[in-house]
Amino acid sequence: MKIIRLLYYSHATREMSLADLKDILETARSNNNSIEVCGMLCYEQQYFLQALEGERETVNELYLDIADDPRHDEVVIISYEEIAKPTFTQWKMGYAGSSAQFTELLKELGQSTFSPADMSVDQASIFLQKMSAFQTDV
Ligand code: FAD
Repeated sequence: MKIIRLLYYSHATREMSLADLKDILETARSNNNSIEVCGMLCYEQQYFLQALEGERETVNELYLDIADDPRHDEVVIISYEEIAKPTFTQWKMGYAGSSAQFTELLKELGQSTFSPADMSVDQASIFLQKMSAFQTDV
């Protein structure tokens, strides 16, 4: 079985309320659990940054569904790579929004506002990994 990690960012078509994020995460968590996909989602300033990890075909199909979702557009893949094993297994879909740690981590990466389009592959990957330790309850 080939396991891959796909990272992408996108722009929400409107400001996401807590209820909107809850809706996305409830669907994601229930669906990802049944298809054995895990990952991490960050949302701030109308940008999403997400990691999806799982079996190659499954992640490809899921990504195409997600990219088609009218709640966001300008969906851009940052990276797509084969990995030995998933790194986000603890959370079928983790989530982190604005927090002191979020701002601090952005600063470490030289960003004053959340702008995934300006992140390198490594920066996006490190950001998601580190934020998985500081999740927001939704
Ligand atoms: P349905 O829920 O019946 O959706 C039918 C169509 O309506 C789909 O095109 C769906 O995108 C759209 N839709 C659903 N709810 C709304 C709404 N409230 N407003 C507008 N359009 C809506 N799903 C996962 O399974 N795993 C993930 O990790 C995941 N991550 C996501 C990350 C982001 C940033 C976004 C925006 C969505 C994410 N989703 C995720 C949701 C995903 O896009 C689909 O909604 C979900 O897979 C269910 O789609 P469906 O076609 O099976 O069913």
